Amino acid sequence: MKLLTDLSLDELKTLVSSYGEPSFRAEQLYLNVNAGKDFDEMTNVGKTFKDRLIADGYAAVGARVLQSHLSKLDGTVKFLFSLTDDNVVEGVLMRYKYGNTLCISTQVGCRMNCAFCASGLEGLKRNLTAGEILGEVIAANRFDGGDLNERKITNIVLMGSGEPLDNYDNVVKFLRLVNHPKGLNVSYRNISLSTCGLIDAFDRFLEEDIPVTMTFSLHAARDEVRSEIMPVNKKYGVDKVIDAAKRYFDRTKRRVVFEYSLIKGVNDGAEDAAALIRRVKGFPCLVNLIVLNYVKERGLEGTSRKDAYRFLGQLEKAGVEATVRRTMGADIEGACGQLRAKYVKNK
Ligand code: SAH
Repeated sequence: MKLLTDLSLDELKTLVSSYGEPSFRAEQLYLNVNAGKDFDEMTNVGKTFKDRLIADGYAAVGARVLQSHLSKLDGTVKFLFSLTDDNVVEGVLMRYKYGNTLCISTQVGCRMNCAFCASGLEGLKRNLTAGEILGEVIAANRFDGGDLNERKITNIVLMGSGEPLDNYDNVVKFLRLVNHPKGLNVSYRNISLSTCGLIDAFDRFLEEDIPVTMTFSLHAARDEVRSEIMPVNKKYGVDKVIDAAKRYFDRTKRRVVFEYSLIKGVNDGAEDAAALIRRVKGFPCLVNLIVLNYVKERGLEGTSRKDAYRFLGQLEKAGVEATVRRTMGADIEGACGQLRAKYVKNK
């Protein structure tokens, strides 16, 4: 299967000319696929040309909404997207005062196998292509009534299943595609890339000059604790992650975020907060605390609300900027990763 959403406007121009079509067709196709239209809806593209593309194995839609669950509490929508094969990935649309944030997946499954996360339970199945990742945004935008003129997705976070920097080329291409002025035109400042800390890939990413908001999944500031819950820490320890965050700030002057999921009895003690303070004090960053979502197969429990606020208080007292993330869409599903797991099980 060849996907039109995998192609940049320049690549589409090459494709179109190889079919002997005039070059303005490339932009027509580009606008159509970015609005989420399938071939039969592209009324401004000739049928013969479309039939030739279809016969040659081209598809126009990278991801489709297979299921959606709407929260009555806060309007959050959980999506299950189907890809061009029979794989499915999750996404979540969250509504904030300043706009809508879409959380999307970059891989089916994940190789990182963090001790608390549902995504790595079955390992990595496959990478998404750039056009499939883009397809999630296009599909959610369309689902919410948006198009290219009136985009309904304000912000994007790469925090669904998968490790973005473990699917480097596709993620970088996706970022360039979604930022394209003739496409969805989402500013890099409104995109967050979250990584468990693949530092070699990160250093390559620094050179791309794509100034997204960088989020590092830290989850512990002591190597003995972090190695226990994140296998990746054996290769890239706490020092390396924090140094990388500092390099990002030095280069982009953009404040970085550290994700810290609070796990009862594992990383939520006073000594854990103290270790974190020692590491980040004085560095312009935000610590995003989140009470761990329970994942049955993993068995780890979230810290109590009370202890989470105690942890927060300790950071704040030391002058470290931090927040406890609020849970959204609590009535539609529990933990991240559970929607796909449920679908796969019932299939
Ligand atoms: N692989 C990337 C992005 C994916 S997950 C990364 O590691 O950053 C996005 C965030 O959710 C990460 O910080 C991840 O550690 C966190 N997370 C995973 N499982 C969780 C759970 N059960 N409860 C709370 N946060 C979780």
